[in-house]
Amino acid sequence: MERKVRVRFAPSPTGPLHIGGVRTALYNYLFAKKNGGDFLLRIEDTDQTRYVPGAEDYILESLKWCGITPDEGVGVGGEYGPYRQSERKEEGIYKKYVDQLIESGNAYYAFDTPEELEQMRENLKAAGVAAPQYNANSRNSMKNSLTLSSEEVQKRLDAGEPYVVRVKIPRNEEVRFKDIIRGWVVVHSSNLDDKVLYKSDGMPTYHMANVVDDYLMKITHVIRGEEWLPSGPLHVLLYQFLGWADVMPEFAHLPLLLKPDGNGKLSKRDGDRLGFPVFPLEWHSPEGEISSGYREKGYFSDAFINMLAFLGWNPGTPQEIFSLEELVQAFSLDRVGKSGAKFDPEKTRWFNEQYLRAKSNEELAQLVKPLVDEKGYQYPNDSFLVDFCGLMKERATFVEDMLADDFLFVSPSKYDEQTLNKKWKEDTPEIILELKTILENITDFTAENIETEFKAFLERKSLGFGAVLPNFRLLVTGLGMGPSMFEICALLRKEETLTRIKVGLERVAEIKA
Ligand code: GLU
Repeated sequence: MERKVRVRFAPSPTGPLHIGGVRTALYNYLFAKKNGGDFLLRIEDTDQTRYVPGAEDYILESLKWCGITPDEGVGVGGEYGPYRQSERKEEGIYKKYVDQLIESGNAYYAFDTPEELEQMRENLKAAGVAAPQYNANSRNSMKNSLTLSSEEVQKRLDAGEPYVVRVKIPRNEEVRFKDIIRGWVVVHSSNLDDKVLYKSDGMPTYHMANVVDDYLMKITHVIRGEEWLPSGPLHVLLYQFLGWADVMPEFAHLPLLLKPDGNGKLSKRDGDRLGFPVFPLEWHSPEGEISSGYREKGYFSDAFINMLAFLGWNPGTPQEIFSLEELVQAFSLDRVGKSGAKFDPEKTRWFNEQYLRAKSNEELAQLVKPLVDEKGYQYPNDSFLVDFCGLMKERATFVEDMLADDFLFVSPSKYDEQTLNKKWKEDTPEIILELKTILENITDFTAENIETEFKAFLERKSLGFGAVLPNFRLLVTGLGMGPSMFEICALLRKEETLTRIKVGLERVAEIKA
């Protein structure tokens, strides 16, 4: 029977969600929506020693910012949930299956103390074993229910002695599963160790809780980062041991996110070194350390998501700009690559620029207005801001960049030296005065009319653009470069333009004197 597609994002609240984690959530979401399935969020918080306060809220808020909404699981304010393993554990869900594994002989109690475990490792090392493990060989000389009599085991359990339950990895078997992205993965059981599944404090470990929950939640596809690939064989064995082989999910292990130069896994340190965030939102650690986030840096969430989608996947067409809905339509795991995806900070900025330019001037004006007001700039009306955005967006990566130069709000207080030295000639004041008269005579002061008159003026005087425009710009904006002067003048309006030219000429005369 065809099962309804159900996938999950299963982060552990051990710190802020890295962009690699957001990508995992995104691919799960896209896959679910593409296939008419469900996307679940499950907080895997069984390891209390690694629990970081604030991390769960951070995960929820990040997904919300990205527009990745779970169909089930914990939502912001707990509106869907709660799929929290720490809470599910209270219901005794995991213990039941641990007992089942012990009964069927696929798991066993182990009572070894930390000192005894250390001793075992040292002995093995001394005997030349490079990576000593609790496994099919060493377990026979340890204190567990395979070596102790059943009375002894019962005595220890009754006495409340601390124990763990370990999986009993079969001695000489090949474990294989087909990964959607990697193809057949084959591991010999001699390379696996008897991982702890459960502790006497009542907590299952990641492996146990993860497999049981995937089964109970009817997960059909496990889509997760490559770092979990080594856990695959153990999970496959657990499915078999528990009699769930026929409903075992398919696995898809996503490629790693690599440093911009391609050498190794992308880390927070790369972000610090190269000046880009590795977290979706700013993160305040419990120790008070602040790490930057895409949201606070001024990235649009849809640009961020679009960029992330392309880290490991491509649509097979030249199209690069995709809304979330378009990504859903285009997405397939077949087009996810095996090899690591290089993170590209430049491309990330490029995506934001594309999204900024694609926004209407009205929408941008809404975004820029609070920033303008905060700076205390004066402007005639809101439609000024709309035109302002139309003019400035072509050169901006972030909304804030549009305010990098303030010449549309305040008249220049200094004048670009390079232009003054290279372009300002003896006859410049005279030419500018003539130009000023021409501007004065334009009744309808639109960019188009200004441009026509300006060009006609150059022609009449047999002057090149380079002889007039930079100086004209200098007087009006104080800068050596910028957007269209004709648009700028139209926005400033005639009176302000003429005043700036007049004042500018006086100031420059003083500088030159
Ligand atoms: N809790 C694991 C994590 O933090 C989940 C791995 C999985 O998806 O199976 O990533």
